[in-house]
Amino acid sequence: MNTEGPQEVWKIGDVKISRVVENVTNVPPTLLYPNASLETLSGDLEWLQPNFLDNEGNMLLSIHSFLIESKGKRIIVDTCVGNDKTVPFPQWTELKTQFLSHLADAGFPREKVDHVLCTHLHFDHVGWNTFLKDGKWIPTFPNARYLVGATEWDFWGGKEDPYGASTNEQAIQPLLDADLVDLVETNHKITEEVRLVPTPGHTPGHVSVEIESKGERAVITGDLFHHPLGFAHPSWEDTADIDGDIAHQTRVKFMKQYGDGPALILGTHFASPTSGKIVSDGDSYRFEV
Ligand SMILES: [Zn+2]
Repeated sequence: MNTEGPQEVWKIGDVKISRVVENVTNVPPTLLYPNASLETLSGDLEWLQPNFLDNEGNMLLSIHSFLIESKGKRIIVDTCVGNDKTVPFPQWTELKTQFLSHLADAGFPREKVDHVLCTHLHFDHVGWNTFLKDGKWIPTFPNARYLVGATEWDFWGGKEDPYGASTNEQAIQPLLDADLVDLVETNHKITEEVRLVPTPGHTPGHVSVEIESKGERAVITGDLFHHPLGFAHPSWEDTADIDGDIAHQTRVKFMKQYGDGPALILGTHFASPTSGKIVSDGDSYRFEV
């Protein structure tokens, strides 16, 4: 399935948030959650299907960017896989999408972006940091500051990502060479309305993004929750987490903080409709769209 293009817009007070999709795929849930099956999810199928699980029990996994307009600034949260990048997953490698024209259609031509925030430095969050031109990786957003968590860079700097995706060489080093990177703390404020929230575990410097304006609030999860099933099963191993114990603790804390509250949750890999509320369900939680 491929539903790339501009879709879905939210208003949080004065802040506008849009989502541009690069790619949506159906993957076996065991790719990320070894415990997941139609049997172990039987109590959750009613709210997971059809938006987040298909009939065969495959997860819908969306790769998209969130575009935030706040206080006159254009902010991109996560930059997907990118074109021409070689990654060891057939559905995401060597892409040739029209992602940049979809960004422009959504009001984000690449020259007009002010901030690029990567929630963490896995390949599917940094890809469009650069694009290939005449055999060289060029910063896609020449007038932006690229915000990279200092803790995250401490961990990844000089190290290759576990997926062998040449992330540092192709998506980070060209930005450093062009002096476009600001290393920021995990509670950094981008504008008065948009701030980072430390949510470690998936990676050491992983952040979520909180948006607050005129008494309304939204939170972008990042990969703290790869899929809504994580709300019901926060302790299940997620094979992409670097520190599973810390990720589990962070998920529980996040749900205590935002669960049964007014905050709109925007999932970084949640397929459409992508947004919803965390609601308690017995001694667990589920996602209500
Ligand atoms: Zn991801």
